[in-house]
Amino acid sequence: MDWNSLAGKPLALEGITLEKYSPSRLKTYETCPRKYRFIYIDNLAPQFEKPRPELFLGNQIHAALRRFFELDPSERSLEVLHNLFRRAWAVDGKRQETFTDVATEREFGLKGLELLRQFFTHHDTSGRPFKLEEWVESPLDDDSGLLGKIDRIDIDPDGRLHLIDYKTGKPPASAGYLRSDLQLPAYWLMAESTFGRPVGRISYLYLQTPTPYTATFTREEVEGVRRYLRELVRKIRADDQFLPIANPLCRFCDYQSICPLELRQTGGTGSATSGWLAWTGNDEGIDRAVNSLPF
Ligand code: SF4
Repeated sequence: MDWNSLAGKPLALEGITLEKYSPSRLKTYETCPRKYRFIYIDNLAPQFEKPRPELFLGNQIHAALRRFFELDPSERSLEVLHNLFRRAWAVDGKRQETFTDVATEREFGLKGLELLRQFFTHHDTSGRPFKLEEWVESPLDDDSGLLGKIDRIDIDPDGRLHLIDYKTGKPPASAGYLRSDLQLPAYWLMAESTFGRPVGRISYLYLQTPTPYTATFTREEVEGVRRYLRELVRKIRADDQFLPIANPLCRFCDYQSICPLELRQTGGTGSATSGWLAWTGNDEGIDRAVNSLPF
């Protein structure tokens, strides 16, 4: 296999300063340019974004899975996975602000343990991943590039990369939506550029289901997406209005109280509704925190 025949080359961005766009950043602009402005230009996230139990839960699951796959396969068990999850939960500094009552924390903690049990039951956990939570990037034009992080990368028997993104939410009825999700070909591009080897497939792995949702893309398709994203970045740079676009996610938007669209609809009143500690050793403080969890 001629790895260098790929459009991207390993470490292509080394030494070059590019403005980096993550797939989620670009998706935010596509969904609502005003929200994009609030987050990425006005930097209002620290002031407006509320702690969310679902997000906290997802972060601890990702952290536990990362640590789990760093272990030798002989050390992996469900009990170990649960302990890693409880440890991640206990030491996360956002725990107090996310959960204001014990019952909610217990509900989400138990949900996390169950999701990990389902993952452990349904999926092969004996492999040695190529990379875990790895940053990847790829150029778009002379002064912009894509940047993202991939949860897990395995190498298939044919030498191609298998990109894996863990999902803690409910799986959709069918995998048809994968073909229209720009994030997947964007990660495909970044992985090939970063590692200089071809990607064979990309999967959304919903923890509660046995079958991953998997997609493949042709070279023409991923290069077409690169051209589309390049144009999108040009559009963002030229935008001087960042108009709000009403969309189904508005009801979850943290910026409703300052959104011109929402203010108009509500008569001007608005409707606003880790540090990672060491994982080895016997730190008494961490053990105490783990033992005090309500689940
Ligand atoms: S409430 Fe809706 S329209 Fe307003 S900023 Fe948020 S996503 Fe955009």
